[in-house]
Amino acid sequence: MQRRVLVVEDEPSIAETILYALRTELFDAVHHETGNDALAALTMESFDCVILDVGLPDISGFDVCQRLRQHSQVPVIFLTARDGEIDRVLGLEIGGDDYVPKPFSPRELVARVRAILRRAPASPKTETLTTKLAPSDPLHHDERRKVIHCHGKALDLSRNEYTLLLTFMKHPGRVLSREELLDLAWPDPGSVTDRTVDAHIKSLRAKIRDAVPDFDPIETRRGLGYALKEA
Ligand code: CA
Repeated sequence: MQRRVLVVEDEPSIAETILYALRTELFDAVHHETGNDALAALTMESFDCVILDVGLPDISGFDVCQRLRQHSQVPVIFLTARDGEIDRVLGLEIGGDDYVPKPFSPRELVARVRAILRRAPASPKTETLTTKLAPSDPLHHDERRKVIHCHGKALDLSRNEYTLLLTFMKHPGRVLSREELLDLAWPDPGSVTDRTVDAHIKSLRAKIRDAVPDFDPIETRRGLGYALKEA
């Protein structure tokens, strides 16, 4: 089945490059230039993935994502010109699935789309937030209070431990390398090293064990990284 990708980008040359790359790889690519047009399309039609520019002429890509998340869990890849780490963290918290800073290679972007679709093989439209946060899941994120619960117990996490665990929860089952974790979960990855990741994983595990003895949802994949065990 052909996968449908919505491209929201106001810069014609960038949009063209992305559409060309997607169509070459046999995706059904649809393009909109503004956030409002994109939101309208997203309520009318179903898509497998959204590539969303942050800087749009009407409303920001973050606003689009936030409104979209009220009714859909379709995967979102942000395109950002500002490689600011604050943007990245903000993007994660409002429900983005991945980031590609500009300038980017269209081939890499398409690879990211493929990777995301592999993680969400079922129709994303039907995958609701409740399936991810089912009460039977050992981990639960209270978005409003910015607290993660483990088997119903609130975890007392530092900011980095919190974003680290949240990053795992957004990618259950996926092996994340130390580099990816630094990139996704740290506001300033340049200032820290791989050892920082290991140290935070260790403290995170300890805090989870404190809350729920003998429970270790984080798997170490030697030479590859870490993964959150799927519930
Ligand atoms: Ca733009």
